[in-house]
Amino acid sequence: MLAQIGPAVFTPPAGGWYTPLMRFAPVPDYHMHTPRCNHATGSVADYAEAALRIGLAEIGMSDHSPMPGGFDAAWRMDRAELAGYLAEVEAARDAFAGRLTVRIGLEADSHPGSEAYVRDMIEAYPWDYVIGSVHYLGDWGFDNPDNLDAWNGRDVEQAYCDYYAAVADSAATGMFDIIGHPDLIKKFGHRPPPGSVRVQAAELAMLDAVRDAGVALEISSAGLRKPVGEVYPHGRMLALAAELGIPFAFGSDAHAPGEVGHAMDTCLGMLTACGIDAVCRFEKRRRFAVPIRALP
Ligand SMILES: [Zn+2]
Ligand SMILES: [Zn+2]
Repeated sequence: MLAQIGPAVFTPPAGGWYTPLMRFAPVPDYHMHTPRCNHATGSVADYAEAALRIGLAEIGMSDHSPMPGGFDAAWRMDRAELAGYLAEVEAARDAFAGRLTVRIGLEADSHPGSEAYVRDMIEAYPWDYVIGSVHYLGDWGFDNPDNLDAWNGRDVEQAYCDYYAAVADSAATGMFDIIGHPDLIKKFGHRPPPGSVRVQAAELAMLDAVRDAGVALEISSAGLRKPVGEVYPHGRMLALAAELGIPFAFGSDAHAPGEVGHAMDTCLGMLTACGIDAVCRFEKRRRFAVPIRALP
């Protein structure tokens, strides 16, 4: 039996998602998109203005990268758009210099067979960071609301195990700085059997791979805006990652300027509850720590 599945997309409340009553000083938000991916709105300058309005000091753009062979082409920029993307982010970086640090990033898909293409694309530009995300298992775009029916009749436990194995593989490629939304498979609220030993083993193997690769894990507020209604990753995974010493980077996965910084406070509170006292910032793919400071 599947859990009751809610609407695929929620409408943002008036005034945006961000809750300005912060208990913690804002940290960088490193996950936001542009209309080039065909499912986001707002210019880079709009995202930067939104960040300034809510008191952020640093953001990073990370639009969905081009991928080879027409892979998921409707949901990402074309290779021909990459130069325009870089030019727009560079222009915003320069225009906002001194007021807001704007980092230049990319969200690349981790998908078997595309590694050489993605590696070349990463090496072709001095990115500040690259997020590696798994949105597909084989040819199944499991997080695409248009493919929701494809969940019907699935072995959910197997889907979770396959997903975590793919995320482990993404870390092991060594191509990425941040592993994006690391339990995205739960997006629509499909759940494996409670306490599944197989799923727990797959989660742990994924975290081991992340630790061994020396990459950061994203803590993402996007899940709060999706039917699952939870931060990515769930609290138990977060606690395990903390025990393993895995660093975290925050991302709202904003697809509209009003989502910038969404629920950062909630995410930072979850991190501090696990004893984590810093998140990551990146500059030319070098990682630094930003302390999570409680506000007076
Ligand atoms: Zn997207
Ligand atoms: Zn993503």
